[in-house]
Amino acid sequence: MSRTLTIAVDGHSSTGKSTLARQLASRLDLAYVDSGAMYRAVALYGLREGCIVDQKVDAACLIARLDSIELRFGPEGIYLNGEAIEGSIRSMAVNEVVSEVSSISEVRRKLVEMQQKMGIHGGVVMDGRDIGTVVFPKADLKIYMTAHPQIRAQRRFEELKAKGKEVALEEIAKNLTDRDRQDMQRLDSPLLKADDALELDNSDLSMEQQLHWVLDKLSTD
Ligand code: C5P
Repeated sequence: MSRTLTIAVDGHSSTGKSTLARQLASRLDLAYVDSGAMYRAVALYGLREGCIVDQKVDAACLIARLDSIELRFGPEGIYLNGEAIEGSIRSMAVNEVVSEVSSISEVRRKLVEMQQKMGIHGGVVMDGRDIGTVVFPKADLKIYMTAHPQIRAQRRFEELKAKGKEVALEEIAKNLTDRDRQDMQRLDSPLLKADDALELDNSDLSMEQQLHWVLDKLSTD
């Protein structure tokens, strides 16, 4: 399989995009980039800098500090100004504000530019919300993932429980639908299925089955 393949995985929150993208990257020997982690890192920075208080995002405050944000991926996932922050970006505090942060055009411009640089030579699987529509409109394969909201909330609940985090199922379900709504309704690069994306509803599929579904599509191309 060619090292220059570019695969875009977009879709609703908690549909298992990163699981599928990771599996594809490992199977096809491609790099994996979690673009959502980059938006989460900016949200974490905003919280720490006091640009976000009581879930209110001061966009001007964040925009003024964008040049002070350096992001990179390394052995421990994403790094914010040299600090490994993977363990801090999946909190409810970040979940609650990340979609508003990601609706700020200046934030998107900075992150999309970084993402396009990471994929400039191909050989990458990237997951997010606008990868097939904006970041890599010419991707070789575009997947648009969805699943029943209740199933997504339940899966996320189990995942957090396994990590020892007690969050109410209703709170998770509400956050998922709120984020989907905000991500689909924002003016700049809303979440939508690219015309040439393959839709994958994994409500009734195991991880193994969905991987084979995608590998099948690749081999019949
Ligand atoms: O993928 P994940 O759920 O971690 O992404 C967190 C949030 O980041 C999304 O709800 C969305 O608001 C934003 N995002 C985005 N564009 C991307 C990736 C993520 O707007 N390409």
